[in-house]
Amino acid sequence: MKRRRVLLCVLAAALPLAAQRPAAKENARAQRGLNSKLVDELVLANHILAANGVLDAYGHVSVRDDRNPNHFLLARHMAAGLVTPDDIIEYDFDSNAVGVDASTGYTERFIHGGIYKARPDVMSVVHFHAPEVIPFGVTSVPLQPVFHMAGFLGEGVPIFDIRKAAGETDMLIRNVALGQALAASLASKPAVLLRGHGAVVVAPALHVVAGRAYYMTANARLQAQAIQLGAGKVTYLDPEEARKSAAQDGFERAWALWKQTVMAK
Ligand SMILES: [Zn+2]
Repeated sequence: MKRRRVLLCVLAAALPLAAQRPAAKENARAQRGLNSKLVDELVLANHILAANGVLDAYGHVSVRDDRNPNHFLLARHMAAGLVTPDDIIEYDFDSNAVGVDASTGYTERFIHGGIYKARPDVMSVVHFHAPEVIPFGVTSVPLQPVFHMAGFLGEGVPIFDIRKAAGETDMLIRNVALGQALAASLASKPAVLLRGHGAVVVAPALHVVAGRAYYMTANARLQAQAIQLGAGKVTYLDPEEARKSAAQDGFERAWALWKQTVMAK
Protein backbone atom coordinates (compact mmCIF):
# COMPACT_ATOMS: atom_id res chain seq x y z
CA MET A 1 0.00 0.00 0.00
CA LYS A 2 2.76 2.35 1.04
CA ARG A 3 4.79 1.46 -2.09
CA ARG A 4 1.76 2.15 -4.30
CA ARG A 5 1.29 5.67 -2.81
CA VAL A 6 4.98 6.45 -3.35
CA LEU A 7 4.70 5.22 -6.96
CA LEU A 8 1.68 7.49 -7.61
CA CYS A 9 3.58 10.48 -6.20
CA VAL A 10 6.54 9.72 -8.42
CA LEU A 11 4.30 9.42 -11.49
CA ALA A 12 2.56 12.76 -10.72
CA ALA A 13 5.91 14.46 -10.28
CA ALA A 14 7.07 13.01 -13.61
CA LEU A 15 4.18 14.63 -15.50
CA PRO A 16 5.25 17.77 -17.38
CA LEU A 17 4.33 20.83 -15.30
CA ALA A 18 2.43 22.32 -18.25
CA ALA A 19 0.20 19.23 -18.36
CA GLN A 20 -0.71 19.65 -14.69
CA ARG A 21 -1.36 23.39 -14.70
CA PRO A 22 -4.25 24.09 -17.12
CA ALA A 23 -6.78 21.85 -15.37
CA ALA A 24 -5.78 23.17 -11.96
CA LYS A 25 -6.09 26.78 -13.10
CA GLU A 26 -9.42 26.13 -14.77
CA ASN A 27 -10.70 24.60 -11.54
CA ALA A 28 -9.43 27.51 -9.46
CA ARG A 29 -11.20 30.01 -11.71
CA ALA A 30 -14.38 27.97 -11.80
CA GLN A 31 -14.35 27.83 -8.01
CA ARG A 32 -14.17 31.62 -7.91
CA GLY A 33 -16.98 31.80 -10.49
CA LEU A 34 -15.02 33.96 -12.93
CA ASN A 35 -15.58 33.85 -16.68
CA SER A 36 -12.42 32.15 -17.94
CA LYS A 37 -12.68 33.74 -21.39
CA LEU A 38 -12.89 37.25 -19.93
CA VAL A 39 -10.05 36.51 -17.52
CA ASP A 40 -7.89 35.28 -20.42
CA GLU A 41 -8.69 38.43 -22.44
CA LEU A 42 -7.73 40.61 -19.47
CA VAL A 43 -4.44 38.74 -19.06
CA LEU A 44 -3.82 39.24 -22.76
CA ALA A 45 -4.52 42.98 -22.46
CA ASN A 46 -1.97 43.16 -19.61
CA HIS A 47 0.68 41.49 -21.75
CA ILE A 48 -0.14 43.54 -24.87
CA LEU A 49 0.08 46.86 -23.03
CA ALA A 50 3.32 45.78 -21.33
CA ALA A 51 4.85 44.56 -24.61
CA ASN A 52 4.02 47.88 -26.29
CA GLY A 53 5.54 50.04 -23.55
CA VAL A 54 2.26 51.55 -22.30
CA LEU A 55 2.51 49.72 -18.98
CA ASP A 56 5.86 49.07 -17.36
CA ALA A 57 6.42 47.74 -13.84
CA TYR A 58 3.53 50.00 -12.84
CA GLY A 59 0.06 50.80 -14.17
CA HIS A 60 -2.89 48.47 -14.67
CA VAL A 61 -5.81 47.50 -16.90
CA SER A 62 -9.24 46.29 -15.79
CA VAL A 63 -12.51 45.07 -17.31
CA ARG A 64 -16.09 45.27 -16.04
CA ASP A 65 -17.37 41.88 -14.85
CA ASP A 66 -19.74 40.48 -17.48
CA ARG A 67 -21.62 38.49 -14.75
CA ASN A 68 -22.16 41.50 -12.52
CA PRO A 69 -21.92 45.05 -13.94
CA ASN A 70 -21.34 46.39 -10.42
CA HIS A 71 -18.04 44.53 -10.20
CA PHE A 72 -14.80 44.63 -12.17
CA LEU A 73 -11.74 42.42 -12.66
CA LEU A 74 -8.17 43.57 -12.07
CA ALA A 75 -4.87 41.83 -11.42
CA ARG A 76 -3.32 41.68 -7.97
CA HIS A 77 -0.43 44.00 -7.08
CA MET A 78 2.17 43.12 -9.74
CA ALA A 79 3.74 44.17 -13.05
CA ALA A 80 1.33 43.77 -15.99
CA GLY A 81 3.78 41.72 -18.04
CA LEU A 82 3.82 39.00 -15.37
CA VAL A 83 0.06 38.65 -14.83
CA THR A 84 -1.49 35.15 -15.12
CA PRO A 85 -5.16 34.08 -14.89
CA ASP A 86 -4.65 33.11 -11.24
CA ASP A 87 -3.71 36.72 -10.42
CA ILE A 88 -7.08 38.21 -11.43
CA ILE A 89 -9.19 39.54 -8.55
CA GLU A 90 -12.86 40.58 -8.52
CA TYR A 91 -13.71 44.00 -6.97
CA ASP A 92 -16.83 45.97 -6.09
CA PHE A 93 -17.33 49.69 -6.89
CA ASP A 94 -15.60 50.69 -3.63
CA SER A 95 -12.63 48.65 -4.83
CA ASN A 96 -13.06 46.08 -2.08
CA ALA A 97 -11.78 42.68 -3.19
CA VAL A 98 -14.44 39.97 -3.35
CA GLY A 99 -13.43 36.73 -1.65
CA VAL A 100 -9.70 37.44 -1.28
CA ASP A 101 -7.39 39.53 0.89
CA ALA A 102 -7.67 43.20 -0.21
CA SER A 103 -4.03 43.82 0.75
CA THR A 104 -2.94 41.96 -2.40
CA GLY A 105 -4.54 44.62 -4.64
CA TYR A 106 -3.03 47.62 -6.40
CA THR A 107 -2.86 50.77 -4.26
CA GLU A 108 -4.61 52.69 -7.06
CA ARG A 109 -7.45 50.22 -7.67
CA PHE A 110 -9.79 53.08 -6.62
CA ILE A 111 -9.25 54.62 -10.08
CA HIS A 112 -11.15 51.72 -11.59
CA GLY A 113 -13.94 51.49 -9.01
CA GLY A 114 -14.64 55.23 -9.17
CA ILE A 115 -14.87 55.24 -12.96
CA TYR A 116 -17.00 52.09 -13.33
CA LYS A 117 -19.44 53.51 -10.79
CA ALA A 118 -19.69 56.91 -12.52
CA ARG A 119 -19.62 55.68 -16.13
CA PRO A 120 -22.02 52.81 -16.97
CA ASP A 121 -20.84 53.01 -20.60
CA VAL A 122 -17.25 52.13 -19.65
CA MET A 123 -16.29 48.46 -19.93
CA SER A 124 -12.52 48.79 -19.57
CA VAL A 125 -10.02 51.14 -17.90
CA VAL A 126 -6.24 51.55 -18.26
CA HIS A 127 -4.10 53.60 -15.89
CA PHE A 128 -0.51 54.17 -17.01
CA HIS A 129 2.57 56.32 -16.41
CA ALA A 130 4.11 56.37 -19.91
CA PRO A 131 6.72 59.17 -19.94
CA GLU A 132 5.37 60.53 -23.25
CA VAL A 133 2.12 61.76 -21.70
CA ILE A 134 3.59 63.39 -18.58
CA PRO A 135 4.58 66.76 -20.20
CA PHE A 136 0.97 67.39 -21.25
CA GLY A 137 -0.19 67.16 -17.64
CA VAL A 138 2.30 69.69 -16.33
CA THR A 139 2.30 72.41 -19.02
CA SER A 140 -0.29 74.62 -20.68
CA VAL A 141 0.00 72.64 -23.95
CA PRO A 142 -3.19 70.58 -24.38
CA LEU A 143 -2.90 67.04 -25.71
CA GLN A 144 -4.58 67.13 -29.14
CA PRO A 145 -4.79 64.67 -32.05
CA VAL A 146 -1.95 65.07 -34.54
CA PHE A 147 -2.92 61.96 -36.52
CA HIS A 148 -6.02 59.95 -37.32
CA MET A 149 -5.20 57.04 -35.01
CA ALA A 150 -5.76 59.28 -32.02
CA GLY A 151 -8.90 61.02 -33.24
CA PHE A 152 -10.67 60.15 -29.97
CA LEU A 153 -8.48 62.77 -28.26
CA GLY A 154 -10.43 65.40 -30.18
CA GLU A 155 -13.09 65.25 -27.46
CA GLY A 156 -10.56 66.99 -25.22
CA VAL A 157 -8.36 65.61 -22.46
CA PRO A 158 -8.99 67.10 -19.00
CA ILE A 159 -6.19 67.34 -16.44
CA PHE A 160 -6.84 66.03 -12.95
CA ASP A 161 -4.90 68.00 -10.32
CA ILE A 162 -4.88 65.97 -7.12
CA ARG A 163 -3.83 69.06 -5.15
CA LYS A 164 -7.22 70.63 -5.78
CA ALA A 165 -8.98 67.49 -4.56
CA ALA A 166 -6.86 66.57 -1.56
CA GLY A 167 -4.04 69.10 -0.98
CA GLU A 168 -0.49 67.80 -0.65
CA THR A 169 -0.43 64.02 -1.24
CA ASP A 170 1.88 61.31 -2.54
CA MET A 171 0.04 61.79 -5.90
CA LEU A 172 -1.60 58.35 -5.79
CA ILE A 173 -5.34 57.63 -6.09
CA ARG A 174 -5.41 55.61 -2.90
CA ASN A 175 -9.01 55.88 -1.63
CA VAL A 176 -12.64 55.95 -2.76
CA ALA A 177 -12.94 59.77 -2.51
CA LEU A 178 -9.96 60.31 -4.83
CA GLY A 179 -11.34 57.73 -7.26
CA GLN A 180 -14.61 59.64 -7.37
CA ALA A 181 -12.82 62.98 -7.82
CA LEU A 182 -10.82 61.56 -10.73
CA ALA A 183 -13.99 60.14 -12.32
CA ALA A 184 -15.62 63.60 -12.01
CA SER A 185 -12.62 65.14 -13.79
CA LEU A 186 -12.82 62.53 -16.57
CA ALA A 187 -16.55 63.28 -16.88
CA SER A 188 -17.81 61.90 -20.22
CA LYS A 189 -14.39 61.97 -21.98
CA PRO A 190 -12.37 58.95 -23.14
CA ALA A 191 -9.17 60.05 -21.37
CA VAL A 192 -7.82 62.19 -18.53
CA LEU A 193 -4.29 63.23 -17.60
CA LEU A 194 -3.13 63.16 -13.99
CA ARG A 195 -0.78 66.05 -13.23
CA GLY A 196 2.72 64.83 -12.38
CA HIS A 197 1.60 61.22 -12.51
CA GLY A 198 0.19 59.73 -15.74
CA ALA A 199 -3.09 59.12 -17.51
CA VAL A 200 -6.30 57.11 -17.54
CA VAL A 201 -8.08 55.91 -20.68
CA VAL A 202 -11.52 54.30 -20.82
CA ALA A 203 -13.47 52.48 -23.56
CA PRO A 204 -16.48 50.28 -24.25
CA ALA A 205 -14.28 47.17 -24.74
CA LEU A 206 -10.86 45.76 -23.78
CA HIS A 207 -9.45 45.86 -27.30
CA VAL A 208 -10.57 49.47 -27.73
CA VAL A 209 -9.01 50.61 -24.47
CA ALA A 210 -5.74 48.90 -25.46
CA GLY A 211 -5.79 50.71 -28.81
CA ARG A 212 -6.61 54.05 -27.22
CA ALA A 213 -3.87 53.75 -24.59
CA TYR A 214 -1.31 52.78 -27.24
CA TYR A 215 -2.24 55.56 -29.70
CA MET A 216 -2.65 58.19 -26.97
CA THR A 217 0.95 57.47 -25.99
CA ALA A 218 2.07 57.59 -29.64
CA ASN A 219 0.18 60.86 -30.17
CA ALA A 220 1.87 62.44 -27.15
CA ARG A 221 5.29 61.50 -28.54
CA LEU A 222 4.44 62.75 -32.05
CA GLN A 223 2.87 65.97 -30.79
CA ALA A 224 5.98 66.84 -28.76
CA GLN A 225 8.13 66.17 -31.87
CA ALA A 226 5.83 68.25 -34.08
CA ILE A 227 5.94 71.17 -31.64
CA GLN A 228 9.75 71.07 -31.66
CA LEU A 229 10.03 70.60 -35.43
CA GLY A 230 7.50 73.30 -36.22
CA ALA A 231 8.72 75.71 -33.55
CA GLY A 232 5.30 75.51 -31.92
CA LYS A 233 3.27 75.73 -35.12
CA VAL A 234 1.36 72.49 -35.56
CA THR A 235 -1.69 71.66 -37.65
CA TYR A 236 -3.90 69.43 -35.54
CA LEU A 237 -6.90 67.45 -36.74
CA ASP A 238 -9.87 69.81 -36.62
CA PRO A 239 -12.83 68.70 -34.49
CA GLU A 240 -14.76 67.20 -37.41
CA GLU A 241 -11.71 65.30 -38.70
CA ALA A 242 -11.10 64.00 -35.19
CA ARG A 243 -14.72 62.91 -34.79
CA LYS A 244 -14.82 61.16 -38.16
CA SER A 245 -11.50 59.37 -37.72
CA ALA A 246 -12.38 58.28 -34.18
CA ALA A 247 -15.55 56.68 -35.47
CA GLN A 248 -13.56 54.62 -38.00
CA ASP A 249 -11.28 52.64 -35.74
CA GLY A 250 -12.28 50.05 -33.17
CA PHE A 251 -8.67 48.80 -33.12
CA GLU A 252 -9.71 45.21 -33.97
CA ARG A 253 -6.84 44.85 -36.43
CA ALA A 254 -4.31 46.13 -33.92
CA TRP A 255 -5.65 43.77 -31.24
CA ALA A 256 -5.44 40.77 -33.61
CA LEU A 257 -1.81 41.59 -34.44
CA TRP A 258 -0.82 42.24 -30.83
CA LYS A 259 -2.54 39.05 -29.68
CA GLN A 260 -0.63 36.92 -32.15
CA THR A 261 2.65 38.65 -31.35
CA VAL A 262 2.25 38.26 -27.59
CA MET A 263 1.06 34.64 -27.77
CA ALA A 264 3.95 33.67 -30.05
CA LYS A 265 6.47 34.60 -27.33
ZN1 LIG B 1 -0.46 55.66 -10.95
